[in-house]
Amino acid sequence: MTSTPQFTFLTPPADGTPITKKHDEIVVPSDPIIPFIEGDGTGPDIWRASVRVFDAAVRKAYGGKKRIVWFEVFAGEKAKARTGEWLPADMLEAVRAYKVAIKGPLTTPVGGGIRSLNVALRQTLDLYACVRPVKYYAGTPSPVKAPEKMNTVIFRENTEDVYAGLEWARGTPQAEQIIEFLERELGKRVRKDSGIGIKSMSETGSKRLIRLAIKWALVNGRTSLTLMHKGNIMKFTEGAFRDWGFELAKAEFRDQIVTEDETWQGVQADGKLLIRDRLADSMFQQILTRTDEYDVVATPNLNGDYLSDAAAAQVGGVGMAPGANMGDEIAFFEATHGTAPKYAGKDIVNPGSVILSGVMMLRYLGWKQAGTMIEAALTKTIQQKQVTYDLARQMPGATEVQTSAFADMIIGNM
Ligand code: NAP
Repeated sequence: MTSTPQFTFLTPPADGTPITKKHDEIVVPSDPIIPFIEGDGTGPDIWRASVRVFDAAVRKAYGGKKRIVWFEVFAGEKAKARTGEWLPADMLEAVRAYKVAIKGPLTTPVGGGIRSLNVALRQTLDLYACVRPVKYYAGTPSPVKAPEKMNTVIFRENTEDVYAGLEWARGTPQAEQIIEFLERELGKRVRKDSGIGIKSMSETGSKRLIRLAIKWALVNGRTSLTLMHKGNIMKFTEGAFRDWGFELAKAEFRDQIVTEDETWQGVQADGKLLIRDRLADSMFQQILTRTDEYDVVATPNLNGDYLSDAAAAQVGGVGMAPGANMGDEIAFFEATHGTAPKYAGKDIVNPGSVILSGVMMLRYLGWKQAGTMIEAALTKTIQQKQVTYDLARQMPGATEVQTSAFADMIIGNM
């Protein structure tokens, strides 16, 4: 940490040590301070259960020599009630200062000028990569025949594409101006009663995402990285994403990668990372029909949004899908589902998404043993058919347990 963070509403914990960075690597003390946002709706139910699982795993894995010092920070409804703001400056300051954070789901405010708290968080903190590992945990009910073939990590660009908020409603002066400009200056006709959205994707934004994905694939011994795009139609955005990807791979990782084209010309892969590209439409077919051929995927924002949830459905659905939003300075782990408000306070939803996001976080901290312990205990609990309602309704003979009881079972199985 470069300077002591200054807070208006928050009081940081009296003990614990901040995580720092040295030469781009995180330096993790044995008692890191980690900010958390429990989230809205079912968020508190899920967080209460998940934090007990994290603490138990760390205690058991390291015999009390390591512990996380949790620091509650606020966003969403809880923050609005306390400070009048949905994303208070204190929360942003805490996440910037402590570098690693975790959150439950946040409500999207209706009206009030904020498109989505999650999108705003990603843009404000420049969390440019949404990382979604999609992996099967044995025993989880699945709609496909061989869900165990899925072990894919999707790196989705998080700040550009049609999510950048360059959008104007039909009939607004801005939409009319753009339509007129397109016709007058560029000779392109657009119907006058159109809403306008602009898709922009930069070399900088694309390359930093692809660089992170390649580095991750190399460090984790993965065999292939697929650039997923719709470049046959959107040539200068999605097509450029593919071209920039190959250019970067050859320029920065030449000795460690081989492209698919090169293998067609007889170059041997020799254990190098295979870089290839696939069109988005074909990718949606192949993730179902040739699941195990997809290892790491790097893709623009919208494709990644769709693919992450579609792939998650193959291995158990949103209740079991973890995620992280990463930037160069910050890693923010999060539930991938929403607040499921109809179940709020009922202690019944699946905490799996936050628990597995915590597993990602523990691995990121280098605390692999604790992460592996949680994964094994979660798998065992599912195999014992003691599961929350979403899994129980698809598993003949399963006993439906509450969120808190599911966490107890996982802890008991460690
Ligand atoms: P949602 O909260 O994800 O809920 C949709 C359905 O998914 C639920 O009705 C439930 O299905 C299932 N589900 C969600 N979480 C689950 C869990 N932990 N365990 C088991 N099943 C779960 O989506 P939504 O109703 O569209 O959105 C509600 C609010 O959340 C909105 O304000 C939205 O903007 C926000 N949201 C936030 C995030 C985020 O913070 N990352 C992401 C998405 C949406 P069944 O009805 O079949 O039981």
